This record gives sequence, structure tokens and C-alpha cells, in this order.
Amino acid sequence: MTTTKSKLKPWCWPLHWQILLGLIIGGLAGSMVAHSAMDSAGANVKPIDTVRGSGLFTTIKLIGELFLNGLKMIVLPLVPSSIVLAVASLSGAGIGRLGLKTLTYYMATSLIAILVGLALVNAISPGTDSQGRGILVGKDVATSFGDETSTLEAKTGDHTGSSFLNVFRKMVPPNIISAANEGNLLGLIVISLIAGGLLGKIESGPSATVKSFIEGVYQLSLRGVEFLLKFAPIGVGALIFCAVAENQALLGPENRFDSAARGVVIFAGVAFAALLLHFLVLLPLLMLFVGRFNPIKHYRAMAPALLTAFSTASSSATLGVTMDCVEKRGGISNRVAGFTLPLGATVNMDGTALYECVAAMFLCQAMGVELSAGQQFFVVLTALLTSVGVAGVPSASLVAIVVILRSLETQLGINTLVVAIPVLLVFDRPLDMCRTAVNVFSDSVGAALIAKSEGEPIYKHEPHHAPGHE
Ligand code: ASP
Repeated sequence: MTTTKSKLKPWCWPLHWQILLGLIIGGLAGSMVAHSAMDSAGANVKPIDTVRGSGLFTTIKLIGELFLNGLKMIVLPLVPSSIVLAVASLSGAGIGRLGLKTLTYYMATSLIAILVGLALVNAISPGTDSQGRGILVGKDVATSFGDETSTLEAKTGDHTGSSFLNVFRKMVPPNIISAANEGNLLGLIVISLIAGGLLGKIESGPSATVKSFIEGVYQLSLRGVEFLLKFAPIGVGALIFCAVAENQALLGPENRFDSAARGVVIFAGVAFAALLLHFLVLLPLLMLFVGRFNPIKHYRAMAPALLTAFSTASSSATLGVTMDCVEKRGGISNRVAGFTLPLGATVNMDGTALYECVAAMFLCQAMGVELSAGQQFFVVLTALLTSVGVAGVPSASLVAIVVILRSLETQLGINTLVVAIPVLLVFDRPLDMCRTAVNVFSDSVGAALIAKSEGEPIYKHEPHHAPGHE
């Protein structure tokens, strides 16, 4: 029973409140550090260099990195083991049925998300000024966004259309060990799906041995996630501290583009509002009317995963926490969660798909490029397809946006769109945090809906009451 005394001790609170507290403290402290760096910055010293050079920042960054490394490390044993076990527990027809439901859900919700974004960006048109002119027309984006341009190159590399196809090539890696080493999650998922299916085709003796070994790896990985979650409030706080301090110090107080700066802020508002609409209205409607379960219970169960996704901006790194929440707090079986969630972390990205569409449309508006209904349909389609190939790591959608804009440039015979992408970097991190949370949430809603459709009694058992878990 929770006493008044223990209510005052944050370490006795349920895990999601502890993480939220860490997030708030980290955010406030990061903002204070950025402000003091901006106040003390001189003509030759940029606030961002003051922030990055401070001992406090370096120490907290190290704590955040250790937590993030732990999250990433657990993904490797967890993903293959959970998929192999889930697939091995399904009969041939079962896999087909589950696979079809999963892909249908992923495509349908991503499409809905994109259409929400498209409607909002067309209605508000953040890329044009009050006279309907593109806010970046005639502006030298490369000069005004020098810092962002170099960051963009570092983030997107040489991801041209053809190298983007490598994402699909990664599906069949030539070497499992190097796939694991390179963090090629998609390749590991495909191999695990096939291995799980083939396990039933070998003799029962060796098959049982392999299965019990994998079961052991899976159980151990889950214990690993539980162990890591004990550090989540501090880890999340440290990650948010660094994200806020770096972003605020980078943005600085000045308005670089006068009227254009307003447009960039409105764009960020539109993307945020569309993400919120999908997260708070459309997905709950699916839970209510398709799944017939209480969305509030689902939000509560998923809170630790949502906060982790928000602070890491990586759905792959969050995967262990997502699985923990869905299975332990949501009561969804490993048969469904182990199959749908790893797939979802790489394939199903509602937030990313929505953002790609809003960002591409915004840049077209801002550069004075009008798109016909057919061209907008093309943007919708490419946003849907590229979101499947985008990796669950920070800023990954920038690569997809380059691909979308390049294709549009080829179609229209222009070369003015890709050069405007650095503008997106102004708000990339905060929007990345929000779209990653939406990506992870949609995966979890998919797992719950599919479990329900398979006749599983979700939310029937009481969630874990171990310390740190509600
Ligand atoms: N950071 C996102 C994720 O991990 C991907 C993106 O939209 O950049 O889900």
C-alpha cells in the first residue's frame, strides 16, 4: 500500500513518474546551462562551444551515453530471440495471418498519419507569407544556415536515391555476425523470421535444444531490460539535459530570417500539431472502436517506453523498453509482441512518415514550388515507402526527405528543393523526439489490436507491482 510518506519519496513512485521527473529536471537544468552559456558568450565564443566545453556537460553526456549504450546493447539478443520464439510458436497459417494483420495495420496507420499531416500543412501553409509568396524564395539558405548545412551532410552522408536502396539490400545480409555488428536490425529481423519458421522443420531433439537456448537468451534479455529500467530516470534526465542544452545553445536568441523565421516556427507547430492529432485522437479512436479497449490503460502502460523514445529519439534503442511495457504492463503475449514489435520498430513509423510529408510539402511551399494533386499524391506515396526503410535512429528521416525532394526535383526539372533542407535542422531534434514517441506508440497500439483480434485477454491481469513498475 502506498503511504503518504512513500508518496514523498520519488524512488518509491511508479516508474513512469520517476522517468517524468528525471525528464523535467534534466530539461530545466539543460535550459539553464544553455542560457548561462548564451549570457556569457563573447564575440569569438559561440554558446554551443561553451556548453560542450563545460565539465558538467561532458559528465552528464557520459551518463546519457552509458544509458543509451545499454539500451542499444540489449536490442541485439532481444530481437532475434523474441522473433524466433514468436514465429516458432505459430503454425504456418498462424504466421501468414499475423503477418497480414501486422502489415495491414502498419500501412494503414502510416497512411492515415501522412494524410493528417498533408491536410494540416495544406490548410495552414507554413511555407508561404501573407501574400502567398514562398518564405525562402530568393534567400541564401546555405549562407544563413551554415552550421546546419555541415550538420546535415554529417547526418545524411551520401544518401542518394540509389544508396537508399541499400536499406532493402540490408534485408538479406551475407554475414549474420557483421549484420549484428553493424546494427543492421532489418537484416537480423528477416533472418530471425526465417530461422523461427525453419526451426519446426528440424528433428525434435536438436530443435528443442536450440529453442531452450533461445528461450534462455530471451529471458535473460528481459531481465536485462528490467535492470536497465532502474536507471531510466537518471539516463533519460541526462539525455534530455544534453538535447536541451545543445539545441538551445545552437538556436541562440537571434532571428536569422526575420519573416522566414516565423514560417519555420509555424512549420514546427504544424508538424507538432499533426503528430499530436495522430497520437491523441486517431490512434485512441482505433483502440476504442477497432480494439474495443480503454486507450487510457494503454497510455499508462506505455508511459516508460514513450518517455524513453522521447528522450533517445530512437525507436530501435527503445525497443527493449517497448517490449517490456507491452508484455508486462499490457499483458500481451510474446507470440504477438515478439513478432510485431521488432518489425514495427523498423518498418512502422507513423510519426516519421507524417513528418516526411509535412517537411517536404513545407519546403516546396517555402521555395515557391506549387505541387499538383498528382505530385502531392507522389509525396504521400514516397513518404509511405521511405518510412518503411528509415532506420530507427535519430534524424533518420532527413535521409528520406532528401530522397523525396530529389525525386520531386527530377520530376519537375528543378534543383532548388534539397538545398533548403538545412532549415529543417532548426527544430529537428525536438520534432524527432516527438515523432519517435509516436512511432513507438503506434507499434504498441498495433501489438494490442492484433493481440485482441487473436482473442488474447489484454489488460486482464494486473500490471507488475515490483518496485519501479506500476
Ligand atoms: N528517430 C526516428 C526513430 O527512431 C526516426 C526519424 O524519424 O528520424 O523512430
